[in-house]
Amino acid sequence: MGDVLESKFSIYKSQSPTSQDERERQLFRPAFGRVFTDHMATVRYTEQLGWHDAKIEPRAEFRMDPSSLVFHYAQEIFEGMKAYRLPDGGGALFRPEANARRFQNSAQRLAMAPLPEQLFLESVRELVRLERDWIPSAQGAALYLRPFMIASEVVLGVKPSAEYLYCVIASPVDAYFKGPSSQGVTIWVSDDYVRAALGGTGEVKCGGNYAASLAAQREATQEGCDQVVFLDAVERRWVEELGGMNVFFVFDDGSIQTPALSGTILPGITRDSLIVLAQDLGMTVREERYSIDQWQADAQSGRLREAFACGTAAVVAPIGEVKGRKHKFTVGDGGVGPVATRLKNVLLDIQQGRSADLHGWVDRLY
Ligand SMILES: *Cc1c(COP(=O)(O)O)cnc(C)c1O
Repeated sequence: MGDVLESKFSIYKSQSPTSQDERERQLFRPAFGRVFTDHMATVRYTEQLGWHDAKIEPRAEFRMDPSSLVFHYAQEIFEGMKAYRLPDGGGALFRPEANARRFQNSAQRLAMAPLPEQLFLESVRELVRLERDWIPSAQGAALYLRPFMIASEVVLGVKPSAEYLYCVIASPVDAYFKGPSSQGVTIWVSDDYVRAALGGTGEVKCGGNYAASLAAQREATQEGCDQVVFLDAVERRWVEELGGMNVFFVFDDGSIQTPALSGTILPGITRDSLIVLAQDLGMTVREERYSIDQWQADAQSGRLREAFACGTAAVVAPIGEVKGRKHKFTVGDGGVGPVATRLKNVLLDIQQGRSADLHGWVDRLY
């Protein structure tokens, strides 16, 4: 349930909010991450004052000194989550406490001031309450929230910043993949580039991981693929994850498998939720490493029936084809498999309030 405590956030409403007509126009099939709501949440941190100046205010540019640390040493972390419209017109977040906790882990790894979980939760809840008319109602559509934090101290010395700016922006998004007939995504095996090594930042959500993955993603695009899949940094054979999604495999005995959280894989909240839901459905779930060669062999023998990627943005994205310098195979019939479809529907039905929330994951806001 929503917070009953009085909010620490001062609310300053926009004097020129988007008109209802214009909003409805923008809410019609928005391109991912291109449409934004009228407001944002911000909180500041300094060593002297701690976290202070919590506001919901009109969305606007930041004015920042060019020497601000984030521009030079990339001390930045973020989260990604969604607010859903419920059948009775209410609004809800999905497992926001998990995002709050992960944001703290990310802050710790990047030597940033950890934002108290309660402040994180209030920031997203207050913003969604104010921007409720921006939550789209189409099946699979949602209001995507992007909490992030940057180092704002003005100094060129290499050190953890003494000042931070935390912010949440909101962006209505359509279902990532629509219709039952959509094809699986094609993925490129990155043989040259590595996403994460043990002891690095692979298991936290920082912008730097994405910056480092873009050359591999560009290579994937040049090879005609939609996404890149990364292998482990040491043996270059264990499948880790996509650039921004975890990966699952579905076998002919009905079991499913996902790589264990080895320290180099981002602990996705979608991943965790799907493991629980698959077990609820009576499926055997293994968290175990899986090699790219085994993936190819199992796809070719038919032992592997499906593979899919998962994350907040796309929810579940079936993988149709895998290509690389040393690999080329089709998974199943290259289309969308029944297990991926079922798990996606079970999760979406909970998130969008169509089925019972047996695990207490739905955070109703109003
Ligand atoms: C965010 C992210 C995921 C998915 O996490 P969810 O909590 O399910 O959205 C997976 N991999 C990477 C690298 C990510 O940054």
